[in-house]
Amino acid sequence: MRKYNLPIFIPHRGCRHDCIFCNQRKITGVDTEVTPDDVRNRIKEFLSTVDEENSSVEVAFFGGSFTGLEMATQEAFLKVASEFKSEISGIRLSTRPDYINTEIIELLKKYNVTTVELGVQSSDDTVLEQNNRGHRFSDVKIASKLIKDAKIALGHQMMLGMYGSDPLKDMQTVRDIIKLSPDCVRIYPVITLKDTKLEKLFKDGVYKPYSVVDAAELSKNAVIEFKEAGIDVIRIGLHSSDDLEEDGGIVAGPYHQAFGEIVESLIFRDKMEEKIVKKNLSDCDFVFHCKKSEVSKAVGHKKMNSEYLSQKYNIQLKVKTD
Ligand code: SF4
Repeated sequence: MRKYNLPIFIPHRGCRHDCIFCNQRKITGVDTEVTPDDVRNRIKEFLSTVDEENSSVEVAFFGGSFTGLEMATQEAFLKVASEFKSEISGIRLSTRPDYINTEIIELLKKYNVTTVELGVQSSDDTVLEQNNRGHRFSDVKIASKLIKDAKIALGHQMMLGMYGSDPLKDMQTVRDIIKLSPDCVRIYPVITLKDTKLEKLFKDGVYKPYSVVDAAELSKNAVIEFKEAGIDVIRIGLHSSDDLEEDGGIVAGPYHQAFGEIVESLIFRDKMEEKIVKKNLSDCDFVFHCKKSEVSKAVGHKKMNSEYLSQKYNIQLKVKTD
């Protein structure tokens, strides 16, 4: 069974806020209004391209704060998605923690929404305030409970390197999220986008973004803790998009097209280095066994792990599949 996620971006609709890092039109690569008819056509078109017998397709409403839309508008979108209920595996949507209440949960249950992802970003109320989020971490706790009690899968999205945050606060967010037991998380290092308040703070020298190396190292630690807690990490870093990259859309920050791959490579590097240090190895070949699907992570993005071990220990890495 091949799994597909069909993302439908609803840019900035449903959101009455103005987070200092946000420029939804740049993030989603879409700046036009989306209608229920567009959604119907998009799903139909997508389903016609997949082998239905052997595919599982999840419709995902992303880009804005879905449950901040008028109830009638939410219902119109959900109704369209549910027209395809026999052909899709579920409906996923992203929203803000303060846009979840019992009335909204009832609507989501009526249309069999399977996963709700909350934009948590940080568990530090001062950081949330400095970034103009307009909610507190207590809202995340309340919304997470309502979603879990409704037997809807819970996702959390968090950011690393927000204005006012630091590595300790970021790792505290990881631990506070773990306490709420979401089913999955996405980790997004903050990227300074053009036409945002964060851009001004960066240009004024008030905000200092993480480097790719620092953000990757921190993401690695976050991924390790989430995985140890049995929480699925479904995304690390923003998806690359031409829209994001063109015309100086990215002003600063740890943006890299292969960011997630770099983080996964670092996790494997740590595993290998631990063995090397433990056995006090150098100037030799080192055979590392992994699954076939993990070979590129073991060797590392652009062979970064092979080169690292060669330079630091004069070790030649040989990856073998089990
Ligand atoms: S709540 Fe989400 S969509 Fe709204 S401004 Fe903040 S990041 Fe952007």
